[in-house]
Amino acid sequence: MPILVDYHTHTPRCKHAVGPMEGYVEKAIAIGLEEIGFSDHNPLPNGLGSNVRMDERELDAYVADVLKLRERYRGKIAVRLGLEMDYVEGLDDYLEKQRRAHPWDYVIGSVHYLDRACKQISWPRNFAGDIHTIYERYYTLVRQLARTGFYDIVAHFDLPKRSAQDATEREAAAVTQTLKEVARVGMCIEINTSGHRHPELKRPESYPTWPIVAEALALGIPLTVNSDAHAPDHVGEQFPAVAAKLRELGCKNLARFAGGKRQMYAL
Ligand SMILES: [Zn+2]
Ligand SMILES: [Zn+2]
Repeated sequence: MPILVDYHTHTPRCKHAVGPMEGYVEKAIAIGLEEIGFSDHNPLPNGLGSNVRMDERELDAYVADVLKLRERYRGKIAVRLGLEMDYVEGLDDYLEKQRRAHPWDYVIGSVHYLDRACKQISWPRNFAGDIHTIYERYYTLVRQLARTGFYDIVAHFDLPKRSAQDATEREAAAVTQTLKEVARVGMCIEINTSGHRHPELKRPESYPTWPIVAEALALGIPLTVNSDAHAPDHVGEQFPAVAAKLRELGCKNLARFAGGKRQMYAL
């Protein structure tokens, strides 16, 4: 079977995505998906990272809009309610409340920030220091994210490579330790195809790199494939090529979510 779901999509509420929400749904229908999930960037307290996410007072309206689309497209495609919820150290209580505030079908966990003030991003442009320090801190936070239990899917697992500096063998231990933690808590990892349109990457490719995907599969970690669409046209981007590569790696099924519960479907 082809890839049937795309769970990582955004809306103009995050201030850096374009196109009406209907556009994302229509594109998903046009390419034959059975499910489309919205997962816009979550609000954070005290205006943290507010330039790239919805405000706190917009969250209810975002949820209402997704649920309205679910009704409107019923019978044509399943519209899922998700959230890309940044893990920020020190905000556990706030994030737990957010997780419980709405009937999410799934919550995607991201580490875009390395510090509590959300100033230090995990994929610094033109970074002159030793990228190893970024990767170490990043994977420490991904393990913390996994341990919170607030999340279903880990987003773009090797995001620091967007700094245009690839991981080397120095990161192998942190990658393995983090994958094992993800496996232990029973979370899922996404293949995120947005790397194909990120000019910062050394070469167009998904997150994470294929050797990490192979390692995740060997650990039995469930996978899902997402476009991280910031425009309707991005929905389902690269899915046929990714499906072929996953089959080559021996992947037999993929994860889908409804009501916070995971099911596997044949790839
Ligand atoms: Zn974004
Ligand atoms: Zn995203």
